[in-house]
Amino acid sequence: MSDSHSKTAAKRALGMESRICRRDFLNSSLLASGSLLLNPLTPRDLLAMPQAQVNIPVDWTGYGGVGDYRHSNGNTAEVMTAGHAIRDKLYEQHPPPIVDTGETFDCVVVGGGISGLAAALTLRRNGGDGLHCLVLDNHPIFGGEAKRNEFVVDGHRLMAPQGSDHFQFPYPHSFMARFYDLIGVDPHAFKYQAWGAADPELPLGRTFEQMPQPQGHYFGAKFGQRPGLWLTDPFGRNLDKAPIAAAIKAELRRSRERRAASDKPFDYPGDAKSRQIDSLTIEEYLMRERGLSRETIRTLMVPGEGGGYGLGPDALSAWCLYAFEQLGCLDDSPETGWQAFPGGNAGMARHIVKTLIPESIPGPRTLENVCRNSVNFAALDRAGAPARIRLRSTVISVEHEYAAQPEKSAFVRVTYARDGNLFTLKARSAVMAGGCWTTKRIVRDLPASHLDAYNQFYRSPCLMANVAVRNWRFLYKLGISSASWYEGLGSFTSVRKVPLFSTGVRAIGPDSPTVLTFKVLYCTPGLPVAEQGQRGRIELLSTSFHDYERRLREQMTEMFGPSGFEARRDVPGIILNRWGHAYVNPQPGFFFGSNGQPAPRQILRQVPFGRITFANTDLGGTMDHKVAILEGHRAAGQILDRILA
Ligand SMILES: Cc1cc2nc3c(=O)[nH]c(=O)nc-3n(C[C@H](O)[C@H](O)[C@H](O)COP(=O)(O)OP(=O)(O)OC[C@H]3O[C@@H](n4cnc5c(N)ncnc54)[C@H](O)[C@@H]3O)c2cc1C
Repeated sequence: MSDSHSKTAAKRALGMESRICRRDFLNSSLLASGSLLLNPLTPRDLLAMPQAQVNIPVDWTGYGGVGDYRHSNGNTAEVMTAGHAIRDKLYEQHPPPIVDTGETFDCVVVGGGISGLAAALTLRRNGGDGLHCLVLDNHPIFGGEAKRNEFVVDGHRLMAPQGSDHFQFPYPHSFMARFYDLIGVDPHAFKYQAWGAADPELPLGRTFEQMPQPQGHYFGAKFGQRPGLWLTDPFGRNLDKAPIAAAIKAELRRSRERRAASDKPFDYPGDAKSRQIDSLTIEEYLMRERGLSRETIRTLMVPGEGGGYGLGPDALSAWCLYAFEQLGCLDDSPETGWQAFPGGNAGMARHIVKTLIPESIPGPRTLENVCRNSVNFAALDRAGAPARIRLRSTVISVEHEYAAQPEKSAFVRVTYARDGNLFTLKARSAVMAGGCWTTKRIVRDLPASHLDAYNQFYRSPCLMANVAVRNWRFLYKLGISSASWYEGLGSFTSVRKVPLFSTGVRAIGPDSPTVLTFKVLYCTPGLPVAEQGQRGRIELLSTSFHDYERRLREQMTEMFGPSGFEARRDVPGIILNRWGHAYVNPQPGFFFGSNGQPAPRQILRQVPFGRITFANTDLGGTMDHKVAILEGHRAAGQILDRILA
């Protein structure tokens, strides 16, 4: 067989020509055609050519699935391009005409993720009936990192998270319990699908991150295994059969014992002991406290320890190991405590919006309706309504009436790009909930204290790839429903049962269709934190949908082919969700400050700038939807207490 024939045959075996992936991919290719660009561009060019990209592959956004989120998988090319125009100051260099909408709001919230939505809800709840607020967000749908994907596979509607995944039971009567109650989410009402097959039952998680035992671990070429080797629960079995050196096994066992024996290493967050922990990287801390070698950490724990923060242990503050525990919930055990909507915390965002604007999703505010009904986009931005959400609107500047005298200004002017035009409006106050990388560029005349603080924030990218499969018998044959690996794209995935309010299908078994989620992080151990994020972004931005799709299909074939997986037959669809600035990466000193200086986040949280306050999860330093809510609530409180008072 000729070379080109064998390549074509290999492509066919991978299913690279199959239907669902291709259908919408063609749409996005057409939209993006002619866009391998062309720099510099004026904002007019950019706005007129929304898919314009600098060296971005034409099939970048790829297939978006079906339903409310079909045009909003991750940061689409359009969202990313408009964001980069802010970074590159294109709007300032070539200012196009601006249309004044003539509107004035009591508050404009920049960013319609969970933090901005929570801020808007607090403003509406606590600000009195006359308060009018507007949320501006650059995506085609609200939610930010808390959005979902939908597939229809063989007649089944399947959902999966684009980013944010699970939540926990809150303490009764806590702020979070009251917040969930306010938005109509009763965590105790989550009942999940039963086992529905004649085959003996395997435990299934409620979220893709739960990873119930027995867990499969794949050891491939990195461990000299060709073909690769699957071991079930190797860590639980003392690593006996794991293809790793005896010395490393001994190190890992010792480290586990030390971990189990160690007491809580601090008395309260912020005390001298916790500051000491915060002054080290996770890697330094594990080497010092648990006796692990750098090599072991980088071979087996990247991203692993620190995976909730996007980078690896060499870059992150060791306090990251303890930060999630401080969030306070009744049960944070993956086995018993973690809960999830079928599309992750998109469910939370939908409930906040339904509470804020009751007509936004038809029907009563039940878990079932809010999950299954479609968003009524026309209801989101109705003239005169007390709460409004304006989508596909990229805010390019927020500036006080008098630039040098924010305290004398009666309003801020907010300018945003939408549908090829620039618009401006007035607001008596603003909450900046978009995140560090954008806020520092769009708030004009930000004082040096705030700018310095924001310059100490780093974010890293993440690709969330949702792979729909017609069945997961190939996992079942291995005796597992969850799998981990140490090379290639991502490092784990698992099959989930979904809550009954989301589906008419009451049971799940190995022949049921499902969505496997791959979380791909970009770590380059040894490089400075900023450089790791930047390198990762370049890889994320410059890899085409086609290349990621091929790599996913190849990897699944390598890992699961021997147990019956056939990419062409079993994968009806893949959606890529690209997040250029997904995770905050707290470096040593981030949480409690260093060299006698306060932590940068404290300045931004405690000191409003004129009529502007600051929200977004990154100010909390822990990527969790609860933090997003708390930061939004705090920023809205500052508006009511200090600015609109
Ligand atoms: C991959 C991943 C998995 C996660 N998993 C979990 C989990 O399982 N459980 C959990 O609790 N938390 C999880 N989190 C964290 C949590 O979901 C997030 O911290 C939270 O959703 C972020 O909300 P936010 O509003 O702070 O920011 P975002 O969601 O980023 O929202 C900010 C919004 O503002 C928009 N914006 C930015 N700049 C502008 C501008 N100039 N103009 C207009 N709009 C703008 C952004 O595009 C975005 O829509 C996860 C996060 C990620 C990335």
